[in-house]
Amino acid sequence: MKRVKGKVAVVTGGALGIGRAACLLLAREGAKVAVTDIADEEGEKVTEEIKELGGFAKYWHVDTSNEDEVSSAFSSIASEFGSIDILVNNAGIAGVNKPTHEISEEEWEKVMGVNVKGVFLCTKHSIPFMKESGAGSIINMSSIYGLVGAADLPAYHATKGAVRLMSKNDALIYAKDNIRVNSIHPGFIWTPLVEGLAKDSPEGVEAFREQLDSRHPIGHVGEPDDIAYGVLYLASDESKFVTGSELIIDGGYTAQ
Ligand code: NAP
Repeated sequence: MKRVKGKVAVVTGGALGIGRAACLLLAREGAKVAVTDIADEEGEKVTEEIKELGGFAKYWHVDTSNEDEVSSAFSSIASEFGSIDILVNNAGIAGVNKPTHEISEEEWEKVMGVNVKGVFLCTKHSIPFMKESGAGSIINMSSIYGLVGAADLPAYHATKGAVRLMSKNDALIYAKDNIRVNSIHPGFIWTPLVEGLAKDSPEGVEAFREQLDSRHPIGHVGEPDDIAYGVLYLASDESKFVTGSELIIDGGYTAQ
C-alpha cells in the first residue's frame, strides 16, 4: 500500500543524508517530491534516482535562509505539482564547535539563519497552500540536542530547542486548519553532516564514530532511513491525530 499516495511533499536539504532518505522513501510511498537544497548536483541526482525507481520528483534550488528563494520556489512547486501537502523542514547545519564565549556574532547568526529562520520561512510560505487545500503536515527536524545538552555546539543546541517549541506553537495555531506540525529528534545518524564533525575531531574519524556509537544504549549510531520512516509516518494520514508531538528516534540516547 502506498502510504502517501497523491500527496505533494517538499523536503528541504533533500540532496544528502536524512533529507535524501526522506525524499526517496516518500516517493516510493507515492508522493510527488519536490527535492530542494543548495547542493544542486546532489539534489538533481536524487530526483534522477527517484525517477529511475518509477517515482515523481523535481529539483529546486532553495537556500532556506533566503525568503525570496523560498517564496518563489514554493509558488512554483505548488503551481507545477498542484499543492503542498507535506513540508519536511530538514535543512540544517551544525555550525562551529566552540565554547559559547568564543563564538562570533556572525557564526551564531549563520546557524540561526538556516536552522531557525529557515524553518520559519518555509513554514510561512507553505501554510497558504495548505490552508487552500484544507490540510497539511509539517515535520520539523530538531535533534536530541533540542532536548538535552551535550556540552558542545552551543548555537546548534539553541536552534534545535527553538525548533521544538516552534513546532508545538505552530501546531496550536494551525490545528483549526487541519495542518499538523510535529518535530523529530534524531540521535546521531551517520550522514555527511556527522562525517564532517568526525573529520574535524582531534581523535580521528574511527575513534569519533566508536565514541558516538557508545553514547547510544542500542550500541550504534542510526542510519538515515531510521529517521525517514518517522517522517513517512508523520507525513501520512496514519498520524492524523498527532500534532504538537516530538518523535524521538535516538537508540535510547535520551532515555538515560
Ligand atoms: P547533511 O548530511 O549535512 O545534509 C543536509 C543537507 O542540507 C545538505 O545537502 C546541505 O547542503 C543542505 N543545506 C545546508 N544548508 C542549507 C540551506 N541554507 N538551505 C538548503 N539546504 C541546505 O545533514 P543531515 O545529517 O542529513 O541532517 C539533516 C537534518 O537533521 C538537520 O536539520 C540536522 O540538524 C538534523 N539532525 C541530524 C542528526 C545527525 O546525526 N545527522 C542528528 C539530529 C538532527 P551542503 O552539504 O551544501 O551544506
